[in-house]
Amino acid sequence: MAGKDDGICENIQRDIPLFVSGMLSDRDMKSFICHVEHCRSCQEELMTYDILEYGLKEKKVLSDPDAETMRLIRDYDFQELMKKQLSDMKTEGRRKEKWEHLSLLALGIANIAALGAAALMLLEKW
Ligand SMILES: [Zn+2]
Repeated sequence: MAGKDDGICENIQRDIPLFVSGMLSDRDMKSFICHVEHCRSCQEELMTYDILEYGLKEKKVLSDPDAETMRLIRDYDFQELMKKQLSDMKTEGRRKEKWEHLSLLALGIANIAALGAAALMLLEKW
């Protein structure tokens, strides 16, 4: 396995903005994902970028998270969540329209949790 000082990480991390905005070509995206899946420092870089970038943009709501995604969010396991997103993108073999922001997922869950709490209060009064 190649070491981490061979310049690959540098290239990958330079591509993060393109990846997040869905502007990488399919081929570039595949090699991006293959590298990040196995490189902790690039994972951290991607997470940091993702969270920062989302913080500067408008809110969007994640429509339909699957059960595994929900579980990872509940556990606040963002590292695993990111890996799952990466492998989903890879196995689907096509570009998603846009990277689903990790922090946006967390926000969606916060909203769901608030709804759940409200529902519980109603039930208690029932
Ligand atoms: Zn790397």
